[in-house]
Amino acid sequence: MLDYNHTPKFADVLNAVIDAALTAENAVRSPRDYLGGSRLGHPCERALQFEFTGAPKDEGRDFNGQTLRIFAIGHALEDLAVAWLRAAGVDLYTRKGNRPDGGQFGFEVARGRIRGHVDGIIAAGPDDLGLACPALWECKTMNAKNWRACVKDGVAKSKPVYAAQIALYQAYMDASIPGLASNPALFTAINKDTAELHHELVPFDADLAQRISDRGVRILQAMDAGELLPRIATSADFFECRMCSWANRCWDLPQ
Ligand code: SF4
Repeated sequence: MLDYNHTPKFADVLNAVIDAALTAENAVRSPRDYLGGSRLGHPCERALQFEFTGAPKDEGRDFNGQTLRIFAIGHALEDLAVAWLRAAGVDLYTRKGNRPDGGQFGFEVARGRIRGHVDGIIAAGPDDLGLACPALWECKTMNAKNWRACVKDGVAKSKPVYAAQIALYQAYMDASIPGLASNPALFTAINKDTAELHHELVPFDADLAQRISDRGVRILQAMDAGELLPRIATSADFFECRMCSWANRCWDLPQ
């Protein structure tokens, strides 16, 4: 009789079935047809253009089961962070009216071609925290190394793509929820390895918001004109390019 618990093959077989189910589920999701505000701080405009035009990723670069599980675990941990903040007395809204069927808070600009959905809005906090409300709430999960860098250097330096998202969301959400751009946002980072939490108040950076907004417009204009935006680097060895899902496509082009 097979010893199921100690047969590596059994785990491999079951994991392959799980991964196949996850990737099949992901494959039928409708691709985004807008520029997501959470991505606009990515360092390479050409990579953003590939992403937003739905250019096929290089072979082997599509999300695999493990990556999809990492995303799902991140979402589940963010739900826990909501519960922990509420338990601490933070009046946090993740959906309109805090009803499960209430829509997410978000914005649309450029005729809906740039959109963002926020993790939450803080309406009030415990008195001793002195939170200025309403405040935008953004939550991310990180491995221990990235989390420690975030604690040490702050989100703006250690994770500029998140800082760009926060600034853009504060700018665009202020019209519907006045005060979000004048009050600092609360950024929460969860250490996935140790369950430690980092919280940081992020003042509105108007210059950053403007730069990211301009970048969104530039990408839309390039897409409309059928133009390719410049590469971030002069060599495919560049750090960002080595991790890029469109590296072969990009560097096979004449320029
Ligand atoms: S390979 Fe490098 S330059 Fe090309 S799109 Fe990716 S990150 Fe940008």
